[in-house]
Amino acid sequence: MSAFNFSPEVTAIEPELVALRRDLHQHPELAFQETRTAARIQAFLEGHGLSLRSGIGGTGVVAEAGKGSPTILLRVDMDGLPIQELNATPYVSQELGRMHACGHDGHTAIGAVAARILASRGLPGRVRFVFQPAEEGEGGAQAVIRAGVMDGVDMAFGIHLWNELPIGTIGVKAGPLMASVDRLRIVIRGRGGHGAKPHRAADPVVAAAHVVTALQTIVSREVSPMQAAVITIASIRSGEAFNVIPEEAILTGTIRTFDPELRSSMPARIARVARGVASGLQCRADVEVRAGNPAVINDTRAAAIARRAAVRVVGEKQVVEPEPTMGGEDMACYFEKAPGCFVFVGSENAEGGFTEPHHSPRFDFDERALAVGCEFLLQVAAEALSA
Ligand SMILES: [Zn+2]
Ligand SMILES: [Zn+2]
Repeated sequence: MSAFNFSPEVTAIEPELVALRRDLHQHPELAFQETRTAARIQAFLEGHGLSLRSGIGGTGVVAEAGKGSPTILLRVDMDGLPIQELNATPYVSQELGRMHACGHDGHTAIGAVAARILASRGLPGRVRFVFQPAEEGEGGAQAVIRAGVMDGVDMAFGIHLWNELPIGTIGVKAGPLMASVDRLRIVIRGRGGHGAKPHRAADPVVAAAHVVTALQTIVSREVSPMQAAVITIASIRSGEAFNVIPEEAILTGTIRTFDPELRSSMPARIARVARGVASGLQCRADVEVRAGNPAVINDTRAAAIARRAAVRVVGEKQVVEPEPTMGGEDMACYFEKAPGCFVFVGSENAEGGFTEPHHSPRFDFDERALAVGCEFLLQVAAEALSA
């Protein structure tokens, strides 16, 4: 890892940044319950010239520096996950069955420190920090957007600490970065009966098995091989007894795409295949698709701004183009309202043992990434305000 180009303020506050992250790490809170986290951030930011608002979209906090226009939004997320931490660090989670296993503790600490530093600088515009609740699939972005955080925003940026990129790198990519996330539920209804007399029943278990297999032909036979899509059936529930054909089978799963047109075509395709296969086997399929986050599509101009900022922090050679992932992020919701860019801050370090994937009970990251992320937010705000 080569030397970084940190502002003196970032270098000076780095120990406090690490301490704040460790404090948050020990007290993870789940979606929309981030009250201690929000209070901690407010206390950290009070008296530093920021205009502060709390209770935004539930437990969110908004901190604004500067005034006038343009308005740049910087978003970090605050929630932990329902996971029992298996690390043995001095800052291991103190909460039973809850863990910051995605790095949101780091994001929150980075955002708080960056907000404090930016507030002490003269800004040619306004920077709005959003400390967002409930990123992990519970609708936190939608909640704070409904509360008006995107009003008047010209451009939005977000970061994610990323254990798939080495420490000292920043990943910036224009265009599609993360996939849309929709939820799928299929109920297959048959006619229950005796396990020994299948001819007197309509077996929803056999129909479900065929539906699962047939659904895979949507991606392999209907979608262009040049387009990315995933249909995963993740759960199958049916029946209780070994000798009874049940009445119904329930499948749940997830649909991932990058292309909005492909995305909107999926519910009808899935319904056609599921209903067709089920009815051929004397059953009925009811298909329900619940729309989640759209795909994260980084705006070309915003990505160029983010790239310039990243180069200032880690140098040209350490700014990489990350591979898109079929994972999702509710940062996408902000980009429906204003152009923006979501950026990966490399936090993997094999020598330090920081190689676990996000959401693993052993997840942890190289804390040097905190100062990198903080400096990046400062630089991207400056670049975007003067762009
Ligand atoms: Zn996550
Ligand atoms: Zn995350």
